[in-house]
This record gives sequence, structure tokens and C-alpha cells, in this order.
Amino acid sequence: MSLQAIPARYRVASSRAETHDTVTLGLEPAGPPVAAHRPGQFTMLYAFGVGEVPISISGAPPGPGLVQTIRSVGAVTRALCAAAPGQLIGVRGPFGTDWGVGDAAGQDLVVVAGGIGLAPLRGALLTALATRERYRRITVLIGARSPDELVFADEVGAWRNGGADVQVSVDRAAAGWRGHVGFVTQLIDRVDVDPAATLALVCGPEVMMRLAARALCARGVAPGSIRLSLERNMRCGTAECGHCQLGPLLLCRDGPVVSYQQAAPLLTVKEL
Ligand SMILES: Cc1cc2nc3c(=O)[nH]c(=O)nc-3n(C[C@H](O)[C@H](O)[C@H](O)COP(=O)(O)OP(=O)(O)OC[C@H]3O[C@@H](n4cnc5c(N)ncnc54)[C@H](O)[C@@H]3O)c2cc1C
Repeated sequence: MSLQAIPARYRVASSRAETHDTVTLGLEPAGPPVAAHRPGQFTMLYAFGVGEVPISISGAPPGPGLVQTIRSVGAVTRALCAAAPGQLIGVRGPFGTDWGVGDAAGQDLVVVAGGIGLAPLRGALLTALATRERYRRITVLIGARSPDELVFADEVGAWRNGGADVQVSVDRAAAGWRGHVGFVTQLIDRVDVDPAATLALVCGPEVMMRLAARALCARGVAPGSIRLSLERNMRCGTAECGHCQLGPLLLCRDGPVVSYQQAAPLLTVKEL
């Protein structure tokens, strides 16, 4: 049976606290590894005896190891966040569509992230920075509720040094905060881009993605050049169970990354 159907065994090699409720795990294969992934894809992570949930891959390919960033919101994510180095975790996948960051070659790349939405985008950003000369401008707009809710905060300096214009905004400032205060979508008005030659990658809460996509469209970026990562309840990962259906899409196969052109008419559909 393929590793899409039964979990591969991975061992926790490292665990790093990003915020009070979010952890980045480094996973190494403890047997046959899953197939190579593309940035934007996700795996189904199985905390043995607790359950299985979809989690995006936050590391960049290549390599047999996986990097995944998890926010503790319920039973399974709590167990995954608590997994200590040495512990075994089940992995199925990788599943779904990817950001297609290479499509921005020769163009401006704009990455817009809200909260933990930066995790699925991190692999695409690292991939673009590794071949920085292929892109024109790389702009990264990051939003968080407060400075202590920022994930990958200690990497921002390296991304700037690597050639990205990184701007960070928080909804509520704290003492000593010198960045922007307000919604990350407000930063879109200030970005220096050529709208006719821009690929925008957006991930965050659905309302933030809707507002970001509208702001990018208002700047002249075509809906087909704006990509969003949509989340719905997922079970099988192989487009068989129907849990993640959104209109005509089965998001585990046809998503999570879809263009705003595809997503716009569907974003009014509420998840049950
Ligand atoms: C394609 C995809 C990629 C994802 N990537 C990540 C990631 O990189 N990191 C991460 O931390 N989480 C990610 N998620 C969300 C993660 O799967 C859910 O947080 C997880 O399933 C919750 O399971 P639980 O048993 O811990 O909590 P539950 O007890 O099932 O739920 C706890 C709370 O979280 C809410 N919730 C459950 N599932 C989701 C969901 N899919 N989206 C939003 N809220 C949900 C519930 O409504 C409830 O309020 C992703 C989801 C999808 C579909």
C-alpha cells in the first residue's frame, strides 16, 4: 500500500517554540520516507493514539526531512506540539497543489501572510531566496495580532539580508514596537510592484485573504496572478472522502493553493 494511504514513520529530530502556542517540528524518516514535496503542499500528521490532521510543510525542499509548524488548537495539534525529540509521528502525503513560486521568475513576487499563514508560505519564500537572481522584487508582508504572536520572527533579518523587502505589521503594538500597527492588508497600498508582472501568494485567515486579494486587485494585479491557500476539514487527503469539498473543488487534491480567480466565487461558502 502507498504511503499516501498508510502513514510513514518519522522521528521528531527537533522542536522549537515559535510562540506560546506554536511549535516548529523537524522530522526525520525512521523508515521509507514520503515523496519529495513542493512548497505549499501539506501532509497528514498522525499523533499515534490521538488522531491525524492536515499540516502544511513549512520547510523548503529538498531532503528526506520535513519541517512543519503547528499551532495547538485541539487534541491532535496539542499532542503534536508536545512531541519531544525522539518521538515517532505518522506522516502521509505530501498532498495537494503548490504555490508554483517559480512562475514569478522575472517578475515581482509578493508574499502576504497573516498569523500562522506564514508557515505554508515559508518554503516558497526560502525557495525564491535561494535563487534570488531569478526574481525582480521580493516583498514579504507579515501580519500578527501582537509582536509575541509572530512566527519565524528570528528569521526576518536573514530574509532581508537575502534580498527581500520584509514589512511586519501587528494589530496591537507592545512597548518598543517600531513597525506598522494595523492590518497587514493596509501594507499592500505601499508596496512597490509592477502589477502587470506580479505573482502574489497569500495565506492567513479567510477574511484576511479576501481583503488582501481585493487590495491586490485594486493595485491592478490580475485575479489569476493571486494565489491563496484554502483550508477545509480534511480526512483522507486523496480526494475520496469528500470532507474538504468546496463548490466543485476537493481541496486536498485541487487545493489547498488555488488562484483568486477560482476562489473568489467560493469564498462566500461557509464551512459547516
Ligand atoms: C491544508 C491545510 C493545511 C493546514 N496547515 C496547518 C499548519 O501548517 N499549521 C497549523 O497549525 N494548522 C494547520 N492547519 C489546520 C489544522 O489542520 C487544524 O488546526 C487541526 O486539524 C485541528 O485539529 P485538532 O484535533 O487539534 O483540533 P480540533 O479539536 O479538531 O479543533 C480545534 C479548533 O480548531 C478548529 N479547526 C479544526 N480544523 C481546522 C481547520 N482546518 N482550519 C481552521 N480551524 C480548524 C476547530 O473548529 C476548533 O475550533 C491546516 C489545515 C489544512 C486543511
